[in-house]
Amino acid sequence: MIETVDVAIVGSGFAGLGAAARLAGAGRDSFVVLEKGDSVGGTWRDNTYPGCACDVQSHLYSFSFAPNPDWTRTFARQPEIRAYLESITDRYGLRERIRFGREITGLEWDGTRWTVTSADGDVVHARAVVWGTGPLHLPSLPDIAGLDEFTGTVFHSSRWDHDHDLRGRRVAVIGTGASSIQFVPQIQPEVASLTLFQRTAPWVLPKPDREIPGALRALYRLVPAVQKLQRALIYGRNEMLVGGFLNPARMKVVEGFARAYLDRKFADRPDLKAKVTPDFTIGCKRILMSNDYYSALKRDNVDVVTEKVVRVTETGVVTADGISHEVDTIIFGTGFRVGEGMGEVTVTGRDGVKLHDVWADGPEALLGTTVAGFPNLFLMIGPNTGLGHSSMVYMIESQTSFILDALRLLDTSGARALDTRRDRQDAFNADVQKRLEGSVWTSGGCQSWYLDENGRNRTLWPGYTFDYRRRTRAVNPADHELVH
Ligand code: NAP
Repeated sequence: MIETVDVAIVGSGFAGLGAAARLAGAGRDSFVVLEKGDSVGGTWRDNTYPGCACDVQSHLYSFSFAPNPDWTRTFARQPEIRAYLESITDRYGLRERIRFGREITGLEWDGTRWTVTSADGDVVHARAVVWGTGPLHLPSLPDIAGLDEFTGTVFHSSRWDHDHDLRGRRVAVIGTGASSIQFVPQIQPEVASLTLFQRTAPWVLPKPDREIPGALRALYRLVPAVQKLQRALIYGRNEMLVGGFLNPARMKVVEGFARAYLDRKFADRPDLKAKVTPDFTIGCKRILMSNDYYSALKRDNVDVVTEKVVRVTETGVVTADGISHEVDTIIFGTGFRVGEGMGEVTVTGRDGVKLHDVWADGPEALLGTTVAGFPNLFLMIGPNTGLGHSSMVYMIESQTSFILDALRLLDTSGARALDTRRDRQDAFNADVQKRLEGSVWTSGGCQSWYLDENGRNRTLWPGYTFDYRRRTRAVNPADHELVH
């Protein structure tokens, strides 16, 4: 099947649907959304592990143009967020524009338009492409010796095996990140034993999660300004963390809260407290929030193992001290292959240049959105647009404003393409890296997926999100070449 549209959007998570809704809202009807799965939702479709919830407040973790007065909790859980994205799909009439089952394998610019090819051979021609697959969708499975010999059940947190009944099982969980701390307390009561392999202890704060009373929800429905105000307050409070990220000495206050929480939770278990106390500055890795993780670790059927995992046998996980931990199930909460957001896709830009080659030393873009030599290609949540403190939906909305302005500029100028100037892109990235110097992410004493193998932060936005919004409000013509 061959289709020709103005804009091809890849992915139907928050990024893809957000872009699609804004295009539809602007009367730009010539677009399709190409989705590899069979339903919308992106990460909120894929992650169905028990306890999956957002750690950003729902009022902020939603589109400003589509507030949801009916959030039942301050931090919504996965089914509710997924339902919200389904409702956005219907509210903006997007469903008929979504092509499910399209796994994109190639993007090629021919001087006038992009050819977007799917694994099944379907082709879409488009003036512009919006790449919205997100950086956290390819599961990372550590290459542990002997894993293929294991006779039990193995799965990754983002591919939860719901057919595998965990009741009475001896379960190994590898990883103690954002996903793991959510599902561990959920599965702990039903498993026979839970051996938790922790490589690095994370910082954990209590989660101010609570039900939103029906009366308050009714008020949000009746007086939307109240919800708007609530959103603004949350936004402002979250932004206050930025100063600490950039100046780690200020993180001591937040770290004090986390230490007090550790003291309180482990007053009776100093042995366990020593194991789970982090040895880096808070904020260096994502700050986690949970009210039940520490309690779960204290249960009799839980063993926190800090020895390095060296191999897997037919029946267990062996650690560096030679102990074989006998289990029948291994769950990997080991995160995602960040930076490989474009996976195996071959992206060919101007003069046959391949994005993989341009990015051989790591991904770079202008404002995390456009890449020199790849005209009319817009990356959602591209390099250095991630956040450790606030809502990615805010960043996504900023980017969609930029994309709409770029399309407007193309229309009004009559140009075929907008191509970012290499020198402007380089100057932007030099500035980003300069601003990241001394930040908690580089100087906080941890290794995280925020940094690449050379210690460069290609992931996070180095400042306030309102600064990003200001810069993406409109295209700065000086940053780009208009190709006629
Ligand atoms: P993650 O935060 O990257 O955590 C991965 C965990 O696995 C870490 O504890 C890591 O240890 C460990 N690990 C990785 N490779 C390992 C190996 N080879 N051997 C032993 N341990 C290994 O992954 P995630 O929990 O899936 O979360 C990923 C991201 O998704 C989060 O940072 C967050 O941005 C997002 N997320 C968000 C929410 C939300 O509520 N909004 C919820 C879940 C996830 P080290 O620390 O030593 O590397």
